[in-house]
Parts: sequence; structure tokens; C-alpha cells
Amino acid sequence: MKYDVIIIGSGIGGLECGYILSKKGYRVCILEQHAQIGGCLQTFRRGKSVFDTGFHYVGGLDEGQPLHRLFDYFDLLDLPWKKLDEDAFAEVIMENRPFFLASGHERFADTLAKDFPRQRKQLETYTGFLKKIGDGIFESFIADFANSSLFESSAYLFLQKTIDDPLLRNILSGGSLTMELDSRKLPLYVFAQINDSFIRSTWRLKGNGSMIADRLAGHIRAMDGEIITNAKVTRLIETDNRISAVEYNGEEQVSGTYVISDIHPAQTLALIPESRHIRRSYRRRISAIPNSFGIFTAHLQLKESVLPYLNRNVFIYRDNNIWDHKCSREISSVLVNYKAPRDGIYTDVVDILAPMHWEEVAQWENTLIGKRGAGYETFKRQKAESCISLASEKIPGLKNYIEKIYTSTPLTYRDYTGAQNGSAYGIQKDCNDTLGTIIVPQTQIPNLFLSGQNLNLHGILGVSMTSFFTCAKIVGMNNLLKDFNGNIR
Ligand SMILES: Cc1cc2nc3c(=O)[nH]c(=O)nc-3n(C[C@H](O)[C@H](O)[C@H](O)COP(=O)(O)OP(=O)(O)OC[C@H]3O[C@@H](n4cnc5c(N)ncnc54)[C@H](O)[C@@H]3O)c2cc1C
Repeated sequence: MKYDVIIIGSGIGGLECGYILSKKGYRVCILEQHAQIGGCLQTFRRGKSVFDTGFHYVGGLDEGQPLHRLFDYFDLLDLPWKKLDEDAFAEVIMENRPFFLASGHERFADTLAKDFPRQRKQLETYTGFLKKIGDGIFESFIADFANSSLFESSAYLFLQKTIDDPLLRNILSGGSLTMELDSRKLPLYVFAQINDSFIRSTWRLKGNGSMIADRLAGHIRAMDGEIITNAKVTRLIETDNRISAVEYNGEEQVSGTYVISDIHPAQTLALIPESRHIRRSYRRRISAIPNSFGIFTAHLQLKESVLPYLNRNVFIYRDNNIWDHKCSREISSVLVNYKAPRDGIYTDVVDILAPMHWEEVAQWENTLIGKRGAGYETFKRQKAESCISLASEKIPGLKNYIEKIYTSTPLTYRDYTGAQNGSAYGIQKDCNDTLGTIIVPQTQIPNLFLSGQNLNLHGILGVSMTSFFTCAKIVGMNNLLKDFNGNIR
């Protein structure tokens, strides 16, 4: 079967590329290795509850804000979005005290200035800087890539220079469990763009992340695109320096004029091991780049009508050492996420997320889902207990509210999304090595392109931007921008 574009992977990046190109009249075919589409947007059901895996909230969805413009284009605005409390979209508990992060740059600074009156000016400098970066987010569309020099600046040094008070620095970093706080590597661009989007406004879905995937997939199919599930891409067949066909499940083939890979660049290159056009140095560089840490999640199914829904995220830290997360038996930091109820005041699901490095689960790397053995079950149970104990600082008696506990580790993510070493956010960007860690969509094979969280920024906002950068390589950015509602500049 011949298509215009074959897309490997149905994560949000693959689906968005499929949507953009379908809108432009290209016939696309998305190949997904799993039965369920969506990658990190996958959900699972147990009894009456549906659990999210790699999606909990987004930032910048109010009118005029960056994600609003993107989701307007993708027709995702009328999903049941719920804005988190403006006076505290997040609560950071540190030194056993709560500190509140409020929506809007001024209110954010004002709220923290109540706890840190002497740091008011510095807080205003901080929010002013983030706002400037967020206001300029679409400039990267004109440049065709977010190649801002801020990728070369360190987030950690920026905080050191801007804010005197070490506790306040930690609080400002405390809502950033959604990125790896590596003091030597984390680029200022990643830190500023993501935090700015949450300060503008933070949202959950009254429902699950799969709604995003289903909406995009529905549109793609309606525009004559195809999505084939249970189709693991096993080889890219190269003829005369072009990918002439894509093999899946070791036997079937489809072909397209262009191929976009939404999976890790190293895994993409492994699908063409013999290519003479991919330089060995490029292969070596891509496979040597470290990936971000993974996430452990304790998914708690709660008894009926016991815990009122809390319309904010809660980040709890056992100590002040929040940068450079180390493995330890005890969980030292968690994000507590309440699932927004469809109606009523009680939540049925609380997810507790904690950073987890691959080394902690590496001993079970050769095992399969559901057959990893008693040692792994004990490991997960202890981690879940440690998460619940830390979360109980916010929800006293939490243990008594729990009906059932389900868990996921970096191994789970590896097996359900193909993420390298179960990494949560893909290639770890390094401000000291931007050339080495910022990957561009174009590969050395002219009709093969990359997309997804491993390029540029991770997360829903970052991946959505990258989908445009990738598709622009095929149809041209000016051509794409014509379809945007309003002026992108
Ligand atoms: C625990 C966790 C929580 C998160 N929470 C948030 C959040 O609240 N907000 C936010 O903005 N971001 C969040 N993120 C990050 C966000 O989910 C990701 O950045 C984003 O969804 C990645 O999308 P993607 O398309 O790049 O890749 P993925 O979602 O990883 O999709 C890749 C797809 O490719 C498929 N695939 C892999 N190999 C093959 C193959 N050989 N053949 C066919 N298909 C293949 C996979 O099965 C998968 O479906 C979270 C991530 C994690 C892990």
C-alpha cells in the first residue's frame, strides 16, 4: 500500500503530525506497536476507575496563551478542560510548610512575596523573565526551530543569580517534577518555557489523556488517514538514499513518499542498521546521549466518596535538596495529582508520581509485564508505601481511603511506549552540549524525519510545537502558518 507519509508511533507527536499533514491533503498512515494509541496518553481501566499514565496537566490554555493557539488548530479546545485554582494552581510543601504558586505573573510574585517580602523585586525579575520567554514562544516558528541561545544557559545558574534566598529558589523549582532538575545540564529555555506555561494557567482534563489521542485519531481517519495498531515497525528499507518501504511485524510492508519517526532517534537509526548514508559518528552520538530519569507512579483507587477533590497539584519534598535527584530507598519528592471528577465533589483516583532512575529497576530489565517475579512486586510495594507516607503529609489518613493500589515504573513505560530505559522525557538536553543534545527533525536520509519529545521541548506543549517544526520540513513553515487562527507573531 502506498501513502504520502508513513508515521512511526502514535504518541501525541505522531498523531499531531498525522493531523497537520492530513489537513494539508497528504494521505498518512500511522503505525503503532500497541493495541492502544496515544503513547504516554494511554490509559488503563480497573473497575469503575480509569487511570492516566503519562499525562496529568497542561499549561497555557487560556485564550491568547501558547497552548490555546495550538489546541485551537488541533481542535482540542472543546474537550472538558478544567482550570486549576488561580490563587494556587500548585502547592509546594517544603520544610513541612505549604507555599502557593498562583496563576498570572503578577499574582505569582505577589503571593510568594507574602512569605518572602525581602525578595519581592527578585520575584518580579524572575516572573518578568519567564513572561518574556513565553511571549516569544512563537518566534521559534518563524526561525523554524527553537534554537534560542537560552538552550546554552543554565537554569540552575539563572536561579542562583536571580534569587538570593535558597529556600525560595527551591520553591520556584519545586513545581518542576515534570522535568529533570539537573544542576549541571538543565537548559534555561526548558525550565523557563515550561514553568511560564504553568504560571499563565494550569489545566486538567475532566476525563483522561486518551481523549486527546482519540480526538486527533478521529480527525485523521475522517481525512482519509489510516492508523494501524499492533503494528511494530521492525525495519526501514532504504533504496537509493531514500526510505522506500517500512516493514512492520517482520513481514508486512507499506511505503510512502515521506517517513516521520515519533520514536527515540536511536531506536529509529536501529531500524536502518546498514545505511551507508547515516554517518557512524552520528549514530554513535545519538545512541550515547543520556535520557532523562523515569517516573514511578502509585495509582491509588479510592473508596467511594471519601476524599474531596483538590483543584491544584501538590508537590511534597522530604528535604531541601531538590536538584540532582539521587536514588534512595525512601522516596524524597512526590507530585500528588487528584483526578478531576466528572461531577460531584469527590475524587476516585489519586496518582502519586516520584522520579525514579533506571538503575533501580535494571535488575528486572529482561523480564516481561506481569512476569517480573516476587522481588519486583516487593520493590514496587515498598516504593508505593513510601509515596503514600510522604503524600500523607498533605492527606492525613490517606491509607484508610485506599481501595486498591496499582503501580508503574520505568520498566512499565519501556514496555508500553518503547521509551529508552523507561525515560519519562526522552533525550536529556544539556546546556553545555546543545549541538550534541538538541536533535533536529531532518536526518541524513532526505525523506526521513524525526518528531516527538526527544527533540526540542518535552511535554504536551513542547511536542505540539515540534510537530509543526517536523511537518514544516515537508510542506514549508509559511504554508503551515497560513492555517493558524490569528497572527503567530
Ligand atoms: C509519568 C509521566 C507523566 C507525564 N505527565 C505529563 C503531564 O502531566 N503534562 C505534560 O505536558 N507532559 C507529561 N509527560 C510528558 C508527555 O507525556 C510526553 O512528553 C509526550 O506525551 C511524548 O509524546 P511523544 O509523541 O513524543 O512520544 P510517546 O508518547 O512516547 O509515543 C511514542 C509511540 O511510539 C510507539 N512506538 C515505539 N516504538 C515503536 C515501533 N517500533 N513501531 C511502532 N510504534 C512504536 C509507542 O508505543 C508510543 O505509542 C509525562 C510523561 C510521563 C512519563
